[in-house]
Amino acid sequence: MKPVNGVDSSPAPACQPTVKKKADWNYHPPLPIALSPVFDFSPSPGAALSWVANAWLKLTPPVYHLLNAIIVYLFLWPSITTMQVFEWRWALTILFINYAVVFILAVPLHLHFYVFAGQKMKQKFDVRAMEKSTRFTFNHQTIDNVFWSLISGVPVWSAWMIVYFYGAANGYAPVLNCFADGPIWFVLFFLVLRFWQSFHFYWIHRLLHVPWLFKKVHHLHHRNVNVGPWSGLSMHPVEHVLYYSSIVIHFVLPSHPLHVIFHLFALNLGAVFSHSGFHKLLVKDKPVIKAGSFHHQLHHRYFECNYGSEEIPLDRWFHSFHDGTSRATQLIRARKKSIFARK
Ligand SMILES: [Zn+2]
Ligand SMILES: [Zn+2]
Repeated sequence: MKPVNGVDSSPAPACQPTVKKKADWNYHPPLPIALSPVFDFSPSPGAALSWVANAWLKLTPPVYHLLNAIIVYLFLWPSITTMQVFEWRWALTILFINYAVVFILAVPLHLHFYVFAGQKMKQKFDVRAMEKSTRFTFNHQTIDNVFWSLISGVPVWSAWMIVYFYGAANGYAPVLNCFADGPIWFVLFFLVLRFWQSFHFYWIHRLLHVPWLFKKVHHLHHRNVNVGPWSGLSMHPVEHVLYYSSIVIHFVLPSHPLHVIFHLFALNLGAVFSHSGFHKLLVKDKPVIKAGSFHHQLHHRYFECNYGSEEIPLDRWFHSFHDGTSRATQLIRARKKSIFARK
């Protein structure tokens, strides 16, 4: 997940640091930020393998999601046979598990970064603190973010999972019963899911930036210009329904419950990490895990750029990629002007 410098084949903007670094950001990773080389038109297998290895062979958010998914699946998840008949007991179990995994991650991250200032401003992207402003529900950014995450986010996410598992238990989705059923697919699907998540997010997100939907729905998420861990799931209920619709892939491709749990944890816990506002979590000045996504932080500041994620370079292909440089800021501002001039 660490930017792989030297493999970004973007022709422009030029590879140069921002001139106004201090004015723009408190901290940013090396610029221009990199996108995955996996889908480069001129294949570079070494760089692609290195990108995938960087995501999976050390403690990163995807590995954290997978560890959480394994623990939950082995010790807490209801069995497929139990879920053949709808009962509140197993449905509520899923809801409580989902609340628990969000609390276990978002509360310590928020306390570390914003309450106890555990690493002060080190690796914090935006120089500003979280806000108290009338544009937020309850006039307070953190309370607003927690409210929308818990009142809408977790219930909608759980509802999608309950629908899926009830469907899968009753034969409406292809289920992989165990690792031995298809060991190669079992492993490969975890890698595929990260790319699927990125692909789905890009298109849903572009839809949400259609002016009418932006104003009515997506605006709620974008009230957060400077983001924190709880901002990740702070969305309008309609956006939650669309965001979690990524789960439909499991109605099509053979999936083990562990794939589905990992996928939904990645959507949720991944958003908590990516909106944390800090590049890495440091403990005693030592990096423990990559946290925030500067790619997405740029979206929250400049709006009409970086609709997707680094995994698939759709933003580059559709000319909305902001790589963090001043040159890209100029291009994105010009793009924004032309978008609004058409309205
Ligand atoms: Zn966001
Ligand atoms: Zn957006």
